[in-house]
Amino acid sequence: MISAPVYAQIFCYDIFCKMLTKFSSFIHQLKQLAIPPHCIQCGIFYIDPKKFWCVECEQLLRAVVSVQLSITANKQMPVFAVGAYHEPLKQLIIAKSWSHRTASASLGELIWMRTPVSILEFDYIVPVPLHWRRYAWRGYNQAEVIAQKIAAKSGKPVISLIKRVKHSPFQSSLAIDQRAANVADVFALALNDQKFTGARFLLVDDLMTTGATLQRCAQVIIRHTKAEAIYAVVAARAC
Ligand SMILES: [Zn+2]
Repeated sequence: MISAPVYAQIFCYDIFCKMLTKFSSFIHQLKQLAIPPHCIQCGIFYIDPKKFWCVECEQLLRAVVSVQLSITANKQMPVFAVGAYHEPLKQLIIAKSWSHRTASASLGELIWMRTPVSILEFDYIVPVPLHWRRYAWRGYNQAEVIAQKIAAKSGKPVISLIKRVKHSPFQSSLAIDQRAANVADVFALALNDQKFTGARFLLVDDLMTTGATLQRCAQVIIRHTKAEAIYAVVAARAC
């Protein structure tokens, strides 16, 4: 049987927890009032809560047409992008002022809203992997967070189909003509399953520069799965 002093302690603890919950909810509501929907580029308040930017900043977005990357002698892969690697997209990709994960998830949302991904037919979503050393340093893979957002919208699974077998310098740190060699033999198949044979894949990355990384990943997938179709989507393209 619980003694009276112990019962009093439990009762007080219960009241304390309830008060704490009410207090956090109050703080949350206060924050909502204090920080209404605002443009993530210029910070102006009271924009359409479904949008990321105000009208002026959204006009800065430079649309890009899709490109085709050669994967094999007779197979090409279309690459779709929200826009050029330029403000206001650039700020989300670099994500200096935001919680990084939140910015990456927003990129996923933008890809869903502003590229043809929602009408593409694919079976699996494959994020371009980071080498484990870079993953450990950064704590997450931006491409994977974007892929998870697309998965939540499309209902299709994210699979870690490919892995990086070599640590390579950042593509952006190299001259254009060195980039293809930098990602040669960097990727390998990480999962081997009959169910992937002849499937349709959506490759996901945050940024495309020369396209060499996406090409290598697609080549590994095609070689091992004889994919029926392969598409790529990125948040931004450096052009
Ligand atoms: Zn703005």
